[in-house]
Amino acid sequence: MRILITGAAGFLGSHLCDRLLGEGHEVIGMDNFITGSPDNIAHLAGNEKFTFYRRDVSNYIFVPGRVDAILHFASPASPNPLSKSGYFNLPIQTMKAGALGTHNCLGLARAQNAKFMLASTSEIYGDPEVHPQVETYPGNVDPIGTRAVYDEAKRFAESLTMAYHRFHNVDTRIVRIFNTYGPRMDLEDGRALPNLLKQALLRLPLTVYGDGSQTRSFCYVDDLIDGIIALMFSDEHLPVNMGNPLEMTILQFAETINRITGNQAGLTFVDARSARDPQRRQPDITRARKILNWEPRIDLDQGIHRTIPFFRKKLGLS
Ligand code: UDP
Repeated sequence: MRILITGAAGFLGSHLCDRLLGEGHEVIGMDNFITGSPDNIAHLAGNEKFTFYRRDVSNYIFVPGRVDAILHFASPASPNPLSKSGYFNLPIQTMKAGALGTHNCLGLARAQNAKFMLASTSEIYGDPEVHPQVETYPGNVDPIGTRAVYDEAKRFAESLTMAYHRFHNVDTRIVRIFNTYGPRMDLEDGRALPNLLKQALLRLPLTVYGDGSQTRSFCYVDDLIDGIIALMFSDEHLPVNMGNPLEMTILQFAETINRITGNQAGLTFVDARSARDPQRRQPDITRARKILNWEPRIDLDQGIHRTIPFFRKKLGLS
């Protein structure tokens, strides 16, 4: 297949490029580098099955030749207000990537009779009142809340995707991605794993926001990519949660990172970053298990071990 990946220079986009090229597909990557990094795709230069366009997906997209599938993964995604690449500091671009970018990709999918996949997010559930989150739970999002630029753009993107599916018969998929980590994450994006692993490797105390009792469930990137590919080649049009169902507190997560890295510097508790920090998050992956026979295989210890070499290299430690 000839597959367009938007956000190709991002964390997930670049792993998708690698996987699909490895499976013999032709890949067209697109990114404007506002949050993605050329380093993530530098190794693909010279690969004759890979073409790259530096473009903003929120403008009209033109791709010469045939396109069989479009995976729309372009968007800022970090909620950390302190991060330059987080969506707090890129609010309009975030809304445009989710709304106009999705519209452009769906228009292209329709014109090319191509499959379309939307990278959606657990953030569409907001600060959930139902736990764990099942796909049928419609969420708890404040449209003018501090996370709304991302959450509402993705909610709109899901609605638009279903509209193109129902009204124009576009062959669509929606994956709701929960916290994922691994090599090629932006060390500066302020999310939990990059912040804490970086601090641990630099032998600093780990910054736990609030009292650390809020929970998340962390999925290693290779597991997520397996699930995305399985969904792509399935017939499922309704949203599918993907993430690791093992829920833990941020405190436990930070302690695990200190243990694995042998960091003796402990923890430091800092102010919760926003009143809207979701208190609990855990995917119910029954649908993915049933439809795709998919579930994560890599546990947190293994995943962190696999991530450390990339972080050490970026930090100039090896
Ligand atoms: N967090 C933390 N210390 C950090 C970064 C994040 O305690 O240095 C917490 C954050 O408050 C949140 C959780 O870790 O409760 C996950 O944050 P992340 O930014 O990875 O993304 P989110 O899951 O909130 O979208």
